[in-house]
Amino acid sequence: MTRALPTAASLYERVQRVIPSIEWPAFTGDIDAILALKRERNAVILAHNCQTPEIFHCVADIVGDSLALARKATAVDADIIVLAGVHFMAETAKLLNPGKTVLIPDLGAGCSLADSITASDVPLMRQRYPGAPIVTYVNTSAAVKAESDICCTSGNALAVVESLGAPRVIMLPDEYLARNIAAQTKVEIIAWKGHCEVHERFSPADIRELREAHPGVTVLAHPECPPEVVAEADFAGSTAAMSDYVGRHKPARVVLITECSMSDNVAVEHPDVDFVRPCNLCPHMKRITLAKIRAALEENRHMVTIDPGVADRARRALERMLAV
Ligand code: SF4
Repeated sequence: MTRALPTAASLYERVQRVIPSIEWPAFTGDIDAILALKRERNAVILAHNCQTPEIFHCVADIVGDSLALARKATAVDADIIVLAGVHFMAETAKLLNPGKTVLIPDLGAGCSLADSITASDVPLMRQRYPGAPIVTYVNTSAAVKAESDICCTSGNALAVVESLGAPRVIMLPDEYLARNIAAQTKVEIIAWKGHCEVHERFSPADIRELREAHPGVTVLAHPECPPEVVAEADFAGSTAAMSDYVGRHKPARVVLITECSMSDNVAVEHPDVDFVRPCNLCPHMKRITLAKIRAALEENRHMVTIDPGVADRARRALERMLAV
């Protein structure tokens, strides 16, 4: 979604359901400065669904899950892209916009999935399972993407796997996403042992407790959760798919089994829906703050660069995904 740029004073009404009035004054200076800097520097901010509401609803120009950000990053008409998300998302934006300056406000914004695998692990999997195409989740470094055949996100993983026409596919690095996809396809899936440190913490017992405490609640789970958790849910899908579900079905009461800012952001759009909010924070996403976004725009930091040889091969894997 692309938005015009208002001022901080006009934005509070939008987020008052999720940001207490006592906290709001702490944000307004940075919001006004960021809105001005974006115009001055011809910059856009891409924000992941798991960013905090003052970023997601007040300064972002483009918001979405990893797939939406990757797609929309190809059509950005700006000199500078600031990625309010984690490092692999900034690399993806750079791969798809090699001529633009891409900034990540905090270089420490990593991801447990991306850190679970290195570029040298991928050829070893290829040797071990000859002929099996390698599908790499976007939550990986550019160097890992460069070693793979095609990328996927949690939103398109099934379509990507089935597009390959192979009886056996290697899915890296998220074990649970791989197992959740394996449950939906006849293709044999070979998994890696990477996990998202946010989604792996949910258990089937958590879901049962939530249902007991909130009778009639609709449970939506992210496919990075263990399959036993997904089995307890009413629906499983990417952050974008969960948001769409709430919009289409308008459940009276819902719980999103994912990173906690996601519920705040969707709640802003659906004031008529009651959100139960168990909170598992992503420490990497939360390294991105308004103050760091402002500093990124003021000081041009931190610039994302990718070795050209790696970038060409990683871009090919991403473009194959975007063509599916
Ligand atoms: S929520 Fe999980 S997958 Fe997303 S950035 Fe954090 S650790 Fe990585």
